[in-house]
Amino acid sequence: MKYYSTNGKAPIADLQKAVVKGLAEDRGLYMPERIKQLPKEFFDTIETKSFQEIAYTVADAFFGEDVEAEALKKIVYDTLSFDCPVVKVKDNIYTLELFHGPTLAFKDVGARFMARLLQYFIHHSSECCCGTATDQTVNVLVATSGDTGSAVANGFLGVDGIHVYVLYPKGKVSNIQESQFTTLGKNITAVEVDGVFDDCQALVKNAFMDEELNQHMKLTSANSINVARFLPQAFYYFNAYARMKENIKIKKCNNDLQLVMCVPSGNFGNICSALFGHAMGLPIKRFIAANNANDIFYKYLQTGKYEPKASVQTLANAMDVGDPSNFARIYDLYGKSHERISSLISGATYSDAQIEKTMRQCYQETGYTLDPHGACGYRALQEGLKDGEIGVFCETAHPAKFKETVDRIIGGDVEIPERLAAFMRGQKQSIELSKDFEDFKAFLMSR
Ligand SMILES: *Cc1c(COP(=O)(O)O)cnc(C)c1O
Repeated sequence: MKYYSTNGKAPIADLQKAVVKGLAEDRGLYMPERIKQLPKEFFDTIETKSFQEIAYTVADAFFGEDVEAEALKKIVYDTLSFDCPVVKVKDNIYTLELFHGPTLAFKDVGARFMARLLQYFIHHSSECCCGTATDQTVNVLVATSGDTGSAVANGFLGVDGIHVYVLYPKGKVSNIQESQFTTLGKNITAVEVDGVFDDCQALVKNAFMDEELNQHMKLTSANSINVARFLPQAFYYFNAYARMKENIKIKKCNNDLQLVMCVPSGNFGNICSALFGHAMGLPIKRFIAANNANDIFYKYLQTGKYEPKASVQTLANAMDVGDPSNFARIYDLYGKSHERISSLISGATYSDAQIEKTMRQCYQETGYTLDPHGACGYRALQEGLKDGEIGVFCETAHPAKFKETVDRIIGGDVEIPERLAAFMRGQKQSIELSKDFEDFKAFLMSR
């Protein structure tokens, strides 16, 4: 499969180049040249298949031309070592729980898949296309304000031939988040930068541009716009459809499943992968993008104008994005047509006060504990479902990741899952550095 850039000015890339480079030379996002339709028979019997079987069929459609079948199967089965179940919250509203992975958020799926695909390329090509460095280890540099670092670090943990450097701003991530990437050891190094998130990001960018450093070691990024991180997220939408179909059959309802998929969105990578699934034939009737107060996409749907602005801080902080990167992919996918986009996707935007109220009401009415991101999704379905429709919203993170906030709002004591508690018991290991690039470079050169 070939990949082109949404900006249209970069050379066409193969999968390996798209994965290793992440962003195209013209700073556009890579898009697969074709989106394969899956046959009707696949959907007719999808409820008889397991999550992993379904995921492999979807993976094969995207990556089958570039990765040997057995290897791809192993990558998929290894990635999905946990379930993404659909759980009923109340009549006609279900949640797709995406928090059963190692760091309790949906980003685990993409990060785990990318790590394994990168490892495959390292082993299957004489020169993995990251320059001329003599050391064959591939070094992943990732700057994080919290959640990305943990998903990437855990996704790559113990993967042979890859070393990860997580750069984070000292004192500016929560203890829970910090514990998820500083206690791992092995091939993960946490770098605590005396600065803010933007300083961490600048260090990473400078490292990619430094010739001497790139001669010394192979560098790559694991940004969320990477095709190997975003496409695999389609897996759980196909599985959600299968499990809903199974559900409805058991209840012997009529078979006309009018499914509405509602995705709490920030950078729009997650919903974009669902839209790719739809383009492959996944029978979802329509989509809702649920936003917090950062309402750029919501405004676009209303006005046809895309106007990025500075992000504002909210309770659902993983969705505090003022210029969602993946808008470019959605725009491209629908031929830049506002009409096509707004007829398939609707929007919602909620203030912190509305998020709090929703979390409280849902807990009181149904006993289900929402996290602040999932709350936007739940509310959008509650307000937006039409007669005959059944809604599924993504719970993008476990409420325990936001324990203090959630406890305060619902007046409860959210139980911390054992795998999260284990991180918090771990011994913190980190390297402290200034925000000066020469310090960071000297550190990397000494490795
Ligand atoms: C990253 C994240 C989101 C936003 O997902 P996008 O793909 O950026 O739209 C939502 N909720 C949680 C918990 C996240 O970590």
